Amino acid sequence: MAEISIDTYLCSGCAACVEICPLVFRLDPINEKAELIRLQPEITDDVYLAAAYCPEKCIEIIEG
Ligand code: SF4
Repeated sequence: MAEISIDTYLCSGCAACVEICPLVFRLDPINEKAELIRLQPEITDDVYLAAAYCPEKCIEIIEG
């Protein structure tokens, strides 16, 4: 089963992933970094798109 990992150190908080895939990603209101809405979301095409468009390349999809 695939998992999503977000490197919050690299994340700039640009919210591109949230715009592309709002059912999976949101910004943490405190540190303004991306986080997962649910721990193990379904890995849809939009998740791959968000990872591809992340300017910091900090979304990783780990195939299980
Ligand atoms: S697209 Fe990347 S850098 Fe931008 S908020 Fe999402 S995880 Fe962070």
